[in-house]
Amino acid sequence: MINARLFLVAFASFGLVIAKPATAAGNDEIKLTFLGTGAPRPSHDRYGPAILVEAGDYKIMVDAGPGMRERLFQAGGFEMLTSVDHLLITHLHFDHTISAPGLWLTGWLFGRKVPMNVYGPTGTAAMMANFRTAYDWDIRYRTTVGVHQEGSELIAKDVGPGVFFDKGGLRITAFDVEHMPIDLESGESLGLEGATLGYRIDYGDYSVLFSGDTRSTPSSEIIPMGKGVDVLIHETQVPAPGDTPEARLANVSLSVHSTPAQVAYVFNQTRPRLGVYSHIIPPEIGSDELLGLTDYSGRMLVAEDLMTLTIGREITIGRAEGAGTDIFTESNVVEE
Ligand SMILES: [Zn+2]
Ligand SMILES: [Zn+2]
Repeated sequence: MINARLFLVAFASFGLVIAKPATAAGNDEIKLTFLGTGAPRPSHDRYGPAILVEAGDYKIMVDAGPGMRERLFQAGGFEMLTSVDHLLITHLHFDHTISAPGLWLTGWLFGRKVPMNVYGPTGTAAMMANFRTAYDWDIRYRTTVGVHQEGSELIAKDVGPGVFFDKGGLRITAFDVEHMPIDLESGESLGLEGATLGYRIDYGDYSVLFSGDTRSTPSSEIIPMGKGVDVLIHETQVPAPGDTPEARLANVSLSVHSTPAQVAYVFNQTRPRLGVYSHIIPPEIGSDELLGLTDYSGRMLVAEDLMTLTIGREITIGRAEGAGTDIFTESNVVEE
């Protein structure tokens, strides 16, 4: 606990580093930008779940929560907004998908000329096909008045557990996590079909794991998949105190999310170089309180919107800001 608290103090100054011994291999880094660290409930401080991964030439968004487009613009201006062309969806809840059309169409409208590639569990391709149908008129309208056609394409693929992307030194592995509804007393499935995926991204010597939305059990796939990972990003829900109707309602979702005590178990089993909380329920919970509830002596922190982590021999904490105030002067929207 003391380690975690000291770490938080250091985090406040931004730029703390966690060193890893040098290896013979290259020093390719992975950069993460936390665009939204909240969940479905609207919050000015914590937008919906979305984390940008930059590795080599790749820019990959993990989940597309509410407000992602605006945060992406804040973090990197139009250049960033138009250069993300891969989206990983953990599952089809609206707080993870509602900005998929926003990323796809805004990027296209302001200059992206390559298709948007989307990967997610069963049902993702159908959802994206429905988005394509929903915005058919918009695309026909804009291309009629001169917006280029390239980049309006949406290519979506359903994926299951295993490696589904392995190009340019970047490997993405999906694995099942437990987020389907169960009967609270018996623990039995309520029979709803569907899946939620966690993802592990490896690039060069470094790696990051995204838990997806999940309850935590000792049999969680996160434990074997998280062994040896540099950064493990886990969701959490803090139980509401008392026995009021509001508290009981809030706590219904504890059966599909992970309490800090459960996440501490996962962190203790996996021992990442850095454990991170994101997708935080409720969004107003304080970082100190959250860390205090987590019985883990390793390095960890509570993510904030627009926080960055650069994962290399050191893990560097920073903040993305300012770029989104630029003025869009160089139009490449309309064909010459
Ligand atoms: Zn969620
Ligand atoms: Zn969910």
